[in-house]
Amino acid sequence: MVVLANDGITSGGQQTLEQAGFEVQTVHVAQEQLANYLIENKVSALLVRSATQVGRDIIDACPELKLIGRGGVGMDNIAVTYAREKGIHVINTPAASSDSVAELVFAHLAGGVRYLHEANRLMPLEGEVHFKALKKSFAGGTELRGKTLGVIGFGRIGKAVARIALGVGMNVIYNDVTSPSEQVEIPFYDGRSVRFDLETIPFEDLLEQADFITLHVPAQKKPVIGAEEIEKMKKGAALINTSRGGIVDEVALVDALEAGKLSFAALDVFTSEPKPEIQILMQPKMSLSPHIGASTAEAQERIGEELAQGVIRLLQTK
Ligand code: NAD
Repeated sequence: MVVLANDGITSGGQQTLEQAGFEVQTVHVAQEQLANYLIENKVSALLVRSATQVGRDIIDACPELKLIGRGGVGMDNIAVTYAREKGIHVINTPAASSDSVAELVFAHLAGGVRYLHEANRLMPLEGEVHFKALKKSFAGGTELRGKTLGVIGFGRIGKAVARIALGVGMNVIYNDVTSPSEQVEIPFYDGRSVRFDLETIPFEDLLEQADFITLHVPAQKKPVIGAEEIEKMKKGAALINTSRGGIVDEVALVDALEAGKLSFAALDVFTSEPKPEIQILMQPKMSLSPHIGASTAEAQERIGEELAQGVIRLLQTK
């Protein structure tokens, strides 16, 4: 059977498929030629990331297609319901990048409490001439151990963040609309593990108690954090959003940073992505990354392997 990995696949994932007897093609076929290519090459499984669109047109034109696989979480680029109605398997890899996103949260958090985002901007410009002044202005950092992390949305990524936070010695509180209690298991390198039992707390309580708040909810109709919510947060608290642009009201966030209500904020996702607002980009108390939460070598490997295993499980004929 032929598998087309139109947006690429890791060599590990490709190898797993080939060892199971699949022919893997890794050419990138342009969107307008995709349907023809799938028919001519008798492609059974089409693997994509976010670039390739698999709409009704492709599904209708390719009755031989048996599986559509999305490397990653969101499936906005696939007509999922329609494909399933037609008997086509649709799979994704929702858990593959949770640890990568969680570590990025901590990169921002550990950097933020020591002003690294600001120091990294100013050291190249002023480090040679004003070293002592910079040393003084960034001397008031704080530690993470013993602080309270509020996690909004306690799914795969929220729990992965909690594992790191608990390991660092932080107190973790969470709010989730569907998950009243959760067991969080922290596995250590030597095979030992420690389990924590956590319970959701009311949203308002989380806003009031947390030293840092991190968001891990899916797309929402309106921002989860706006001016009203920021007002309820501790003075000097920090906010991290690696979930989706629009979950945080960016205007309210910039106002809160300018007013000194929040000490810093970190964004990996932006309301007007891929053109973030200039007020966000230029705000010195903002730690920024260009939507790279899932982008680690390990996550890509897991994505490739999970997709390959999915294809084998669903299509391999015994
Ligand atoms: P998940 O489905 O496992 O967990 C989401 C949780 O949020 C669920 O438990 C749900 O009950 C809860 N929830 C939904 N609405 C809520 C609300 N209003 N208040 C409180 N809780 C709410 O999802 P996940 O895999 O943990 O992903 C979380 C987010 O991370 C998604 O938005 C996803 O798009 C994003 N993400 C970002 C990157 C990146 O590169 N930055 C990578 C992967 C995922």
